[in-house]
Amino acid sequence: MAITVIIPTPLRQFADGSSEIYLEAATAGDALEKLTAQYTGLRKHLYNDQNVLRNFVNVYVGDEDIRHLDGPQTQVKDGETIMIVPSIAGGNIAAEARAEGDLPALTNEEMARYSRHLILPEVGLEGQRKLKAARVLMIGTGGLGSPMGLYLAAAGVGTIGLVDFDVVDASNLQRQIIHGTKDIGRPKIDSAKDRLLDINPNTKIESFETRLTSENALEIFKEFDVIVDGTDNFPTRYLVSDASVLTRKPNVYGSIFRFEGQASVFWAEKGACYRCLYPEPPPPGLVPSCAEGGVLGVLPGIVGTIQANETIKVILGAEGILLNRLLLFDAWKMTFRQLKLRKDPACPVCGDNPTIKELIDYEEFCGLNLPTEEKPMEEITASELKSLFERNEDFQLIDVREPFEYEIARIPSAKLIPLAQVVARLSEIDPAKTAVVQCKGGVRSAKAIENLKAAGYAGRLINLKGGIRAWSDEVDSSVPKY
Ligand SMILES: [Zn+2]
Repeated sequence: MAITVIIPTPLRQFADGSSEIYLEAATAGDALEKLTAQYTGLRKHLYNDQNVLRNFVNVYVGDEDIRHLDGPQTQVKDGETIMIVPSIAGGNIAAEARAEGDLPALTNEEMARYSRHLILPEVGLEGQRKLKAARVLMIGTGGLGSPMGLYLAAAGVGTIGLVDFDVVDASNLQRQIIHGTKDIGRPKIDSAKDRLLDINPNTKIESFETRLTSENALEIFKEFDVIVDGTDNFPTRYLVSDASVLTRKPNVYGSIFRFEGQASVFWAEKGACYRCLYPEPPPPGLVPSCAEGGVLGVLPGIVGTIQANETIKVILGAEGILLNRLLLFDAWKMTFRQLKLRKDPACPVCGDNPTIKELIDYEEFCGLNLPTEEKPMEEITASELKSLFERNEDFQLIDVREPFEYEIARIPSAKLIPLAQVVARLSEIDPAKTAVVQCKGGVRSAKAIENLKAAGYAGRLINLKGGIRAWSDEVDSSVPKY
């Protein structure tokens, strides 16, 4: 039977770097015999001296562990795939490689670079080699990803994967310190890579310039030892959590809003996952994004650095990681609090009877693309708004931002009615005239239109796409962007 054997990353060095080997075999045991006859260096990693498969090596035929089938006698069919999956019971791939004495050596340059780690007994030479062997995947290179990436590269993490699809914007620079002024307009992933390699040219950067989706997450995650969550929205956060549970990876979590941060290590193999804590997301609109609600620039620096700290400890196999604990930080009051977390036996993804066994549609789960029967909201671009002014059309422009934002920048003739007051002050908007509603980026104004319609406002309402930022980009660059 022609079958495919998939070789996990840490063992590829013993198989001429191959990730897949094709061979003929009738049983799983037969396939492993042929594989190790071809690549003799692999044998001692898979079998012990008694010729028994080592207990940290799981062998899967299709999607089943052969331990739950007929062991090495498990039949394989033509075209089937055998996967060698090192168990993560020992913590992670790097730790298992250590047990085999296969951690990469350090060069003299690395010895000098990491000397302050090497003289810490808790890290030492072995710990530094574990860091070098480690593969960490960072989701996002924004506020949290910036300090994370800088410290992980500096600490000597051997391989850092970066997932991002965004472009550096001037408004990012107040907190996303991995990017510089010269990088405005560049893909964040390129800017982050340059900066990390400047800090430590020994670090290998693997870039994924893509949005993380239910289609690609498992494929990307399975190549890494630790996932670090630097996302800023709920759909991606649930996606990262579920994909981490399904691939059995630790998920080093951080989140920020205004002055408050949270951090934890979610690791379903050892404790609670994100869904044990938050089985369901808040309804859309309840928790505004940082773009709408603001964030103190230094806050992601602190929370992201805590995430880097925990990531390094997970790699080192340290005691006292932030497992089954939720750390709450308030930068304004300068307080840290800790809550106990417990694995929830009823958790839909990591509990005793999980109902989620594959990735789902997270936009829908978070209520972001529920079908509506209403006709779509009428929109206008900044350039079209400019034409309305030029043609002297009789319309009203309603600005639903906060007064302090109105102080920073405004579009001429705009009437300020903050979102929270828009329904109460409905009588100030003339239903006989078209109303263009505007905010900073177009989200709050859309919410204002929904609220006005729900309150029975009968006049024509048009949302300004992209808000005052688009006005600044397309019409009047003297209006500051903030
Ligand atoms: Zn759970």
